Amino acid sequence: MKVEKQAIERISSAQTVLVVCHVAPDGDAIGSLLGLGTALEQTPKHVTLICPDPVPEEYDHLPRWETVIGPLPERPPPSGQGAVLVTLDCSAPDRLGKAYDAQWLAGIPIVNIDHHPTNTYFGEVNWVEPSAVATAQMLVHLIEALHIPLDADSATCLLHGLVSDTLGFRTPNTGVEVLRTAIRLMEAGAPLPYLTDRIFNHRPLGMVRMWTHALQELTLEGHILFSEVTQRMRREVGYDQDGDAGLVNFMNATNEADIAVVFSELEDGQINVSMRSTARYDVSQVAFQLGGGGHTQAAGCTLPGPLADAKARVLPLLHQAWHAQSLQR
Ligand code: 5GP
Ligand code: MN
Repeated sequence: MKVEKQAIERISSAQTVLVVCHVAPDGDAIGSLLGLGTALEQTPKHVTLICPDPVPEEYDHLPRWETVIGPLPERPPPSGQGAVLVTLDCSAPDRLGKAYDAQWLAGIPIVNIDHHPTNTYFGEVNWVEPSAVATAQMLVHLIEALHIPLDADSATCLLHGLVSDTLGFRTPNTGVEVLRTAIRLMEAGAPLPYLTDRIFNHRPLGMVRMWTHALQELTLEGHILFSEVTQRMRREVGYDQDGDAGLVNFMNATNEADIAVVFSELEDGQINVSMRSTARYDVSQVAFQLGGGGHTQAAGCTLPGPLADAKARVLPLLHQAWHAQSLQR
């Protein structure tokens, strides 16, 4: 993998590096943030790690998670300090949530590092590598190009990203290079079995109860399997955290379905749509068309409510995509 030269130059020459990941961070977003942040902290640079949403409790086993701050610091760094904002795993500026403030960021160049094919190239420098299985994989190469030694903490966070986005090395893009990168991270001290266990074998009872409710609403329409998570279900089980990614991944293993979707009602009435597909079907373009983004087999978007309206917009587009792609076979 070739590291974008301008990304190396911008980060090398900056004295202040603000690193930010996307809203509702997943295991790659948070692993990438902490992995790069921990590496950069070994240099004389001033490093600030930003996550637009609170770091979910499920990541509290990762080194330095408590050093991550919420949205942007009160004041921008003084001009002349050579600051850059490095965005990780974000396909578009709206993925930065409250951490995107054009006025605050005036004069601070953005280095956009991401692996989503739907990336909108919103930075001054854009290193977008859709062939990478995780943003964390790109960062292993970046850290090497910056001549920063890979320590155990950084390697642990980066392997967390790799394991999360490959669902434990099970996605079809898991090739020899990915496993080589994983071995490098393990040699640097990253504990693979521990991370795999934390990522896949731990979930709160409330989440499982929420899935039980959602699975009762399961509907198969053609080759599309969908379900919903409502605020009412959340109140009934007393669980208000995320957990739809695990649910839609589980649904995606159903033999009769080529595409799985979970429509989740948010507190503000908007609907978060999580889509998955089995090999050979692309859901990213439908998500992109609706203002979201993602990967071929895992994508999402957020739409206005109510639930019925969001379904009425998404399902016909997915049926069309399924038919168009089936005809291509
Ligand atoms: P998930 O379904 O796990 O939330 O997300 C699957 C993939 O779609 C991830 O790569 C995530 O970054 C992307 N994604 C999910 N929701 C959105 C969204 O609202 N906007 C964009 N641009 N990408 C999204
Ligand atoms: Mn990712």
